[in-house]
Amino acid sequence: MHELSLAQAILETAQAQAASHGAARVLAIRLRIGELSAVVDEALSFSFGIVAQGTAADGADVQIEHVPWTIRCQECGVGYRVQEGMPVCPDCHATGGETLTGRELQIVEMDIE
Ligand SMILES: [Zn+2]
Repeated sequence: MHELSLAQAILETAQAQAASHGAARVLAIRLRIGELSAVVDEALSFSFGIVAQGTAADGADVQIEHVPWTIRCQECGVGYRVQEGMPVCPDCHATGGETLTGRELQIVEMDIE
């Protein structure tokens, strides 16, 4: 049900944005979603289609841009993309560090009219 509550939140933001711009319809919504947010694209698109029925965003195209999980190594400070969910530094082989990207869950832009 993760995607359903997320779809609801996106819809509310989209409606507020459309209203503040005096737009009648939301045509498309572009999202940036990090690898760590564990969102299933199909489930999100499907959920959005359901919650948006009868609203200004009914039938809006949901486009999802994925952001990989990247980390800054706590030992040597190099930034790297985490492979297969294992945060192991490719340079010094230390594990863990500060997450740089991968937690994104945001609306990048919307097409409204
Ligand atoms: Zn390192």
